[in-house]
Amino acid sequence: MPGRLCFIQPAMAEQTPRYKTYDSPAGGWGAAAATAKVLIEQSVVGKGSRALLSMNQPGGFKCPSCAFPDAACTKKLEFCENGAKALAHEATKFRVTRDFFAAHSVTELMEQSDYWLEMQGRLTEPMRYDAATDHYVSVSWDDAFALIGRHLRALESPDQAEFYTSGRTANETAFLYSIFVREFGTNNFPDCSNMCHEPTSRGLPHSIGVGKGTVILEDFDHAEAIFLIGHNAGTNAPRMMTPLVEARKRGIPIVAVNPMPERALIKFTEPQDIVQMATFGSSAITSEFVHIRIGGDLALLKGMMKVLFEREAAGETVLDHGFIAEHTSGFDALRADIEAQAWPDLVEAAGIDEAQIRRCAEIYIRSNATLICYGMGVTQHQRGSELVQQIANLLLLKGNFGKPGAGISPIRGHSNVQGDRTVGIDEKPSQAYLDRVRDVFGFEPPRAHGHHAVESVEAMLAGTAKVFIGLGGNFVRAVPDTERSYDAMRKLDLTVGIATKLNRGHLVHGRDALILPVVARSERIETAKGEQFVTIEDSMSNVTASRGVLDPASEHLLTETEIVCRIAMATLPESKVDWASYIDDYDLIRDKIAQVYPALYEGFAARIQAPMGFHLDIPPRRRVWATPNGKANFLVLPGLAVNAPVYDPAMLRLATVRSHDQFNTTIYSYNDRYRGVYNDRMILFMNADDIAARGLEAGAKVALETIGTDGVARRVDGLTIIDYPMSRGSVAGYYPELNPLMPLGFYDKTSGCPAAKSIPVRIVGAAD
Ligand code: SF4
Repeated sequence: MPGRLCFIQPAMAEQTPRYKTYDSPAGGWGAAAATAKVLIEQSVVGKGSRALLSMNQPGGFKCPSCAFPDAACTKKLEFCENGAKALAHEATKFRVTRDFFAAHSVTELMEQSDYWLEMQGRLTEPMRYDAATDHYVSVSWDDAFALIGRHLRALESPDQAEFYTSGRTANETAFLYSIFVREFGTNNFPDCSNMCHEPTSRGLPHSIGVGKGTVILEDFDHAEAIFLIGHNAGTNAPRMMTPLVEARKRGIPIVAVNPMPERALIKFTEPQDIVQMATFGSSAITSEFVHIRIGGDLALLKGMMKVLFEREAAGETVLDHGFIAEHTSGFDALRADIEAQAWPDLVEAAGIDEAQIRRCAEIYIRSNATLICYGMGVTQHQRGSELVQQIANLLLLKGNFGKPGAGISPIRGHSNVQGDRTVGIDEKPSQAYLDRVRDVFGFEPPRAHGHHAVESVEAMLAGTAKVFIGLGGNFVRAVPDTERSYDAMRKLDLTVGIATKLNRGHLVHGRDALILPVVARSERIETAKGEQFVTIEDSMSNVTASRGVLDPASEHLLTETEIVCRIAMATLPESKVDWASYIDDYDLIRDKIAQVYPALYEGFAARIQAPMGFHLDIPPRRRVWATPNGKANFLVLPGLAVNAPVYDPAMLRLATVRSHDQFNTTIYSYNDRYRGVYNDRMILFMNADDIAARGLEAGAKVALETIGTDGVARRVDGLTIIDYPMSRGSVAGYYPELNPLMPLGFYDKTSGCPAAKSIPVRIVGAAD
């Protein structure tokens, strides 16, 4: 096959899979080596190294990977191994040109792996699908925008279009996209946060009035106890390891709750600690590792709360009664629910013993300032939104809001996923916000709620959706029920992929299809008004400027902002919005953001000049609760289950996870060194006793079948069993490869978030 072949690594399929327990510390020399390797692999050793010196630095650009905040930039190197991978893959020397598309039909490209597609390099010019030849062919920007305008204007209703946003999209672009789509007439905003922290955005406001974390980075310096629930920091927010190492050095207890004993939660070497590196030293991270059963977090949280109430009943004062009386509502209902829980049920549901639950409670009781961080292990369940509320319950009982070292911290996985929501990417916008849009832009926005990610696929399957526009991302690989999602996408009249790299989402397309290449985060934005910068909001509500430092990968690229403006101009010839003005001057966009969000962004253009940007107001940090009753609310989740029961003795709960060499659906390699997996992604991590109980052996090839309720058969074959210290009844494997097992309807009803961490499956013999 012509085109770029992996000249550093033969096609991964040829490399022999290896599985070798990894017992070195995470981070350290392994991280340094992986950083060097990716720069070499992408042939950007010089260019990439120079760019890394500007990443996450004042005046530089924000890492395009996760959303962990930057410390006060006291260090010359403010990036981690996975940030370096994201940058190297963005700055790569390799290009996907019109010749590449001439050489490869879409059908041929569909046979290639996600990894192979990623390794082909940066897109260079706009391409349109030619059904006659099954190839993408180059198209002019003007023709591309005209085509989109024609398709959108031809729709019977604006609700027949789906407008997807990836968390890489900067604030300025996301804001304009939200205004364009609303002037067009719909709130159909499926976005990547629908599949990760939507339970935080939809569940937490009922508890404390905001759908964001209340913790800032400095709180780690003041915490007296830290809980990490359902999150793998060493892979998904690696720079978080630094404050954790510092906390351990202060003797602060860290409790990690996870069905998988992730390496970085156990031992970590700080790559920038010269002594540790020189001596091959490391720090123990977790002082209490809770090997929870998948979905057992609820029982752990209720068990800890039960201990608090028992201690109170025994005459001790362990609750913050002053805080509870002044700031909360619903205390009695919560106590009644908790006191009704029986220890044997709690132990059974959690999958750990009572003693460990009591130890966790003791750590919590002794701390006057506790912060709880969490990830997908909490949100991706059928009752994920309510589970998030239980974390808030626990924190409220001891007044752990509005004081240094305390609070709740959802760790976001994509660089601006939180910012996109803040500036309007929201399928359920408030009426007050819509009023402000009307007042600022002079058009009446749609008031009916739109589609989240799963609903948009359902609309495609039902034939009510006709057009899909993807502002970044790899939608069809990120959503559940892969085969049905492919069918859904292929039913559309038009699909548009706005992206830096080629991915499968561009190959699973509508009758008409466009690929529109963009200037990347690390690249300079030059307009008629001079150099422009964008802004990013991280997991802890810091808003900082991001200025690219590299030349764009191709002279034919446009910025995301220009693309959105020109789609709007081609679709809305009578628009009330001066789209053209925003193409060249991003300060004008920030002025509009400040007008639509005065409480958050007043004086935006001036405040963003500060080297480290500014922090958005989070009222619970001031013990102010923007809830209907003006209080922080204790909310009861009856029972001990976060997923519907499944009565099948063969059932295992499957968690789909990232490998260490993966960012969302982007595959950097087939290795997952911290879990001891090399050259293989078709694996199943499984507990030794569960393996034996099924008469299987490690290394056996098996298939997984979903235990579903909708009559659709779902199966993935060719999985190698890895004997891994999973908690009993819990198995894990990689997405997107295992997304075919997740039914479209298997999601948290409050938020629409797919329950990707608790899919009920059974093992069946592998197909020959
Ligand atoms: S921690 Fe996240 S944001 Fe920071 S450099 Fe690493 S991947 Fe990028």
